[in-house]
Amino acid sequence: MEASAATEVVIVGAGPVGLTLACDLARRGVGVRIVERARRFQVGTRARGVRGRTQEVFEDLGVLDALRGHAEAPLPSRFYDKDGNTVREAVMYDAPPVPGAPYPGSLMAGQHHTEAVLRERLASHGIAVELGCEFTGYAEDGEGVTAVLRSVGGREEVRARYVVGCDGAGSTVRKRAGISFLGETWERQRMLFGNLTADGLDDSVAHLWAEGPGGMLSLAPMPRSGTWFFTAPLPADGGGEPVSVEAFAKLFAERTGLSGVAFRDPVYLSVYQVNIRMVDRYRAGRVLLAGDAAHVHPPAGGQGMNTGVQDAYNLGWKLARVLRGAPESLLDTYEEERMPVARHVLDTTTARGRHWAASGPAQVADRMVGAFQGKDPFSDVSGLGVHYRGSSLARQLDESIGVRAGDRAPDAHADAGTGERVRLFDLFRGTHFTLLLFGNRPAPDTPAEVRVHRIAGDEAARRYGVEGDGLVLVRPDGYVALAGGAWDDRSVADYLALLAVE
Ligand SMILES: Cc1cc2nc3c(=O)[nH]c(=O)nc-3n(C[C@H](O)[C@H](O)[C@H](O)COP(=O)(O)OP(=O)(O)OC[C@H]3O[C@@H](n4cnc5c(N)ncnc54)[C@H](O)[C@@H]3O)c2cc1C
Repeated sequence: MEASAATEVVIVGAGPVGLTLACDLARRGVGVRIVERARRFQVGTRARGVRGRTQEVFEDLGVLDALRGHAEAPLPSRFYDKDGNTVREAVMYDAPPVPGAPYPGSLMAGQHHTEAVLRERLASHGIAVELGCEFTGYAEDGEGVTAVLRSVGGREEVRARYVVGCDGAGSTVRKRAGISFLGETWERQRMLFGNLTADGLDDSVAHLWAEGPGGMLSLAPMPRSGTWFFTAPLPADGGGEPVSVEAFAKLFAERTGLSGVAFRDPVYLSVYQVNIRMVDRYRAGRVLLAGDAAHVHPPAGGQGMNTGVQDAYNLGWKLARVLRGAPESLLDTYEEERMPVARHVLDTTTARGRHWAASGPAQVADRMVGAFQGKDPFSDVSGLGVHYRGSSLARQLDESIGVRAGDRAPDAHADAGTGERVRLFDLFRGTHFTLLLFGNRPAPDTPAEVRVHRIAGDEAARRYGVEGDGLVLVRPDGYVALAGGAWDDRSVADYLALLAVE
């Protein structure tokens, strides 16, 4: 056994959530180790819809441009009925403009690409994912945590201040922390999915056979990687069928009746089981959870990775601040803000999944296309509408401006006092708090960590609902901390004193 040098945070799991958190902590100078049980990096598409809010997070972390380099062109989706007739063809992931949101639609890139660009970013901070390194348990004391890791090199004990479990639905961290994962498993709802090569299919569209037992069978070309991403429901009474190209070909033939289509060269094949579960707490002492380790739900609307990335982004700045001396209670606001979001995602994906399953092929086409174009009866799948109003970190000074404390701070073009036109998201980018001041009222006292900008211009005033004076303090994760039209010298300093670092 080896006792290694201490680090500040051990992140367990190098999926999209662990990597997002690692990037956010690393850019804040936090000591991080990120360990991954798998011996090689995942291949295969899985989550391919990077939604609007996630793109904003990725822009802030400096990975959006690289991810765009892997994005698939938005091809139309063609929906068939049970007789193989086309009932609708539409580009699903193009969304209409949303004021204050530069990326209203989805960027389509396989999850392996998302993970790769995050790993590259992390490497630029000098941190590499430790492959083949499994977290097996931990012990906690007043000062920190001792995480136990196992790899080919043997057993290792790592001293850290915190452990974050980003280790997916089967989370060992969650189990060792004794946190329950309450909910249900839909035993009869299983899906074969993966990436392979398809010959004999029109590759200018995605194909969706909506009608049939167990739900939709889909095949989407991924021209940049030269493969097709498929999903196919497995028979409810099945079990034990091989996870193979032949199994998919059989399901395809039964569902579509098409001849002349052949499948080969699987890159990745797996089985997905619908689970609707979430934790009853996000933290046990010095151990926290994020992503699938904390919540899993039906795939309708593609929310899993996107929700997990937002967990990580909410947690990163808080954890870094606590490590630098802010009160530990700041970490409690992570659960306070993210647990209601997870509950909402579970409820809405379940309702949406049921709604789609009960629809005919033309209806399901309309509903799916509508969902990705901002017309979903259950929720907004873009993540742009997520807010933390009512959080103990949201402070409303008065009611005289439109934007509310806890809202996502919208983007806009403005004059930031230099005469130059700037983008607000460019002012927010980084690890700092940003203070936007509208009007002529004198600036309040601000600690050095806050970047202050006097904002002029109609577009920004309109987005923030300001007619005269306005003060908007924006958190490092892009949410409004403090908002109002009247303030005194101490308004900002008093707010930040509550989150003060030593
Ligand atoms: C077919 C399919 C389609 C999907 N489509 C979408 C979509 O369009 N949009 C969307 O948002 N989501 C989608 N999802 C969901 C998405 O893939 C997950 O929500 C996402 O992967 C969760 O990320 P994560 O980092 O929390 O966990 P994971 O991606 O599961 O990563 C966890 C990592 O932890 C590692 N690990 C586990 N235990 C240990 C241990 N003890 N020690 C060290 N490492 C460990 C695992 O090997 C793994 O690499 C889809 C999922 C599937 C299956």
